[in-house]
Amino acid sequence: MKRIKVKSLLSKPLLGSEVLVKGWVRTKRGNKNILFIALNDGSTINNIQIVVEAASFDENLLKDISTGACIAVTGKLVESQGQGQNIEISASSIELYGKSDAETYPLQKKGHSMEFLRENAHLRFRTNTFGAVFRIRHAMAFAIHNYFNDKGFFYLHTPIITGSDCEGAGEMFHVTTMDLKNMPHNEDGSVDYNNDFFGKETNLTVSGQLEGELGALSLGDIYTFGPTFRAENSNTPRHLAEFWMIEPEMAFYDLKDNMDLAEDFVKYLIRYALENCREDLEFLNSMIDKALLDRLKFVVENEFVRITYTEAVSILLASGRKWEYMVGWGRDLQAEHERYLVEEHFKRPVILTDYPKEIKAFYMKQNDDGKTVRAMDVLFPGIGEIIGGSQREEQYDKLLNRIKELKLQEKDFWWYLDTRKFGSAPHSGFGLGFERLILFVTGMSNIRDVIPFPRTPKNAEF
Ligand code: ATP
Ligand code: MN
Repeated sequence: MKRIKVKSLLSKPLLGSEVLVKGWVRTKRGNKNILFIALNDGSTINNIQIVVEAASFDENLLKDISTGACIAVTGKLVESQGQGQNIEISASSIELYGKSDAETYPLQKKGHSMEFLRENAHLRFRTNTFGAVFRIRHAMAFAIHNYFNDKGFFYLHTPIITGSDCEGAGEMFHVTTMDLKNMPHNEDGSVDYNNDFFGKETNLTVSGQLEGELGALSLGDIYTFGPTFRAENSNTPRHLAEFWMIEPEMAFYDLKDNMDLAEDFVKYLIRYALENCREDLEFLNSMIDKALLDRLKFVVENEFVRITYTEAVSILLASGRKWEYMVGWGRDLQAEHERYLVEEHFKRPVILTDYPKEIKAFYMKQNDDGKTVRAMDVLFPGIGEIIGGSQREEQYDKLLNRIKELKLQEKDFWWYLDTRKFGSAPHSGFGLGFERLILFVTGMSNIRDVIPFPRTPKNAEF
């Protein structure tokens, strides 16, 4: 007989039919005559109840079926006599695939802390919460490809190992095959990479944007969706050392088009979750965050506020608040400022634009005022920055000037500058942090709990 997944079994139950299900035991209860097993196979948050007449089975087999064990069950699908489920399987045969030692299985009881589950990340998929989170994570990845494919964007694979530092920002993970105990040096004391694998210094990428621009200036609209790496030592609930980023890049888009796309895109994703991940979201709404569903609906139904950085600074200065970090024109906004704007002042997502050029990257389009650039950050409640983007500087001279002003190595950017020499075009793009999106959609509060195996300072287990 062919195995059926619990999700399809529950979606159109054929009462009276023989079925074969396979999964992991969540709970077993009952008495010496009859047992009730809650079986979960990961396809849905819902378990299927297995009813076992003890007299028809080997006593030792039944003893071995404890929480965490993996079994295959054949039986008849019947209407349930008990409360809590409509249907159940009356078991005719059970095969035990894998026992689970009752003494040492870590997930015995309910209500483990998130920290405990993080230490047991190899097994945490088997809890209701993490099952829901990772099914939603999948649905969001699928919806992202769907959205862009429908709009005629091309999925571009940008390199993970790069020879360039996207923003001149530093904080990258080096990639080398050289012997760390015996590094060759140049006369001036710097490391000699000539004999390294690539013959030059290389790193793990912090962003696929620069390569993405090359694609957009030929294919029109592209997006990347891949892992990015930052070696910054920020131990916060919103930063990972390895995270996934979605970076669309569009020819002929100005900043307004860019904002329109960003807003439409995240609203599409949230709507997709509301329509396709209902049961998982309802579970998270009841167990993790009671305001989750209302917040998701609110974001889908309301327009984002759009104001400039300069206006935001005035609002913050007029707020009468005492800030931990000082507010002033030219200073970067901190999480406390972003969250004040979103959660207290406007009470909805905010897009901030036109930041001072000193606090933004070299490639952003310079405004005529000589002071600001066409940057945009999308700020979300509970999260802060979820998207960062800009219109790009498409003029060769202005771009080169900025590279020089910032003392970046002109020769490292020869291929990037070439695009501004040969058929340059206005274009824009942004980066959405995938895990920050999942944080928002699931209502989870720590970014370590929305990626299967988090990489953070001093932590690379599993
Ligand atoms: P932040 O100020 O929050 O550190 P950033 O300005 O350095 O972020 P960008 O370089 O603009 O981030 O990256 C684009 C997006 O990638 C951000 O809006 C955010 O959603 C996400 N992101 C950036 N850094 C991280 C990180 N360390 N872990 C997870 N997501 C991140
Ligand atoms: Mn940013």
